[in-house]
Amino acid sequence: MSSALHTSAAVDVARAALETDEGAAVGAHVASVAEDDFSVAHYFEADLPAYRGWQWCAVVAASPGGEVTVSETALLPGPDALTPPAWVPWDQRVRAGDLAPGDVLPPAHGDPRLEPGYMLSGDPEQDAVAGEIGVNLERVMTRLGRTEAAGRWLESEFGPEAEMARSTRFHCGDCAFYLPLAGVLRAAFGVCGNEFAADGRVVHAHYGCGAHSSATGSSGSGSPAYPPYDDGEVENVEIPAALEAAGGV
Ligand code: SF4
Repeated sequence: MSSALHTSAAVDVARAALETDEGAAVGAHVASVAEDDFSVAHYFEADLPAYRGWQWCAVVAASPGGEVTVSETALLPGPDALTPPAWVPWDQRVRAGDLAPGDVLPPAHGDPRLEPGYMLSGDPEQDAVAGEIGVNLERVMTRLGRTEAAGRWLESEFGPEAEMARSTRFHCGDCAFYLPLAGVLRAAFGVCGNEFAADGRVVHAHYGCGAHSSATGSSGSGSPAYPPYDDGEVENVEIPAALEAAGGV
């Protein structure tokens, strides 16, 4: 590392280059950052309208024992600079939840989540069987597509690690309200059919909630925190009129 690149003389060379090349006022020296053994970037404050937090930068270099020269100058965002969000390509800007009524969103060409399905053979019996097992479609989901969907559902609020699932000993897998999916996803996922629980949502077999079909205790008309009031255990007694009049009760 050439020590000449960190001296005040090197800073002056960097400042002069910025004032000449950029034609702008250069503020106080902010930092020096070694780029490699033979170059150092010097940063200066840049008091420019609309560039809050940006800094002027000049990279100086020197061969061992040689003269300090300027490699390049630039205006760069500093650590507190106001910068735009990272560029997102147009074809990646549609996100889950963006689809609105009337929108058309065809799958991308070569979408890896889809593959050709079974083509009708013309044999009525064979095609009928294909229809029954659900493969008579133009396209079906690939293994990748199913795996990605399963991953999202596993991590969702209806997965086995959800707070609701960890707060109960019941599991969907043995609940009467659990409607298993068809196909390979049947092994781990189903739809809840309980309107008081995760009704209509895909739930993992190890998700669970207190509305499980085998749950016992309060049905909702009482509080789980207190025993129900049983008026059959209350005894009605007559209060003598004289005692009542004397304020004895
Ligand atoms: S009622 Fe609860 S335990 Fe039963 S399927 Fe629905 S979410 Fe799962």
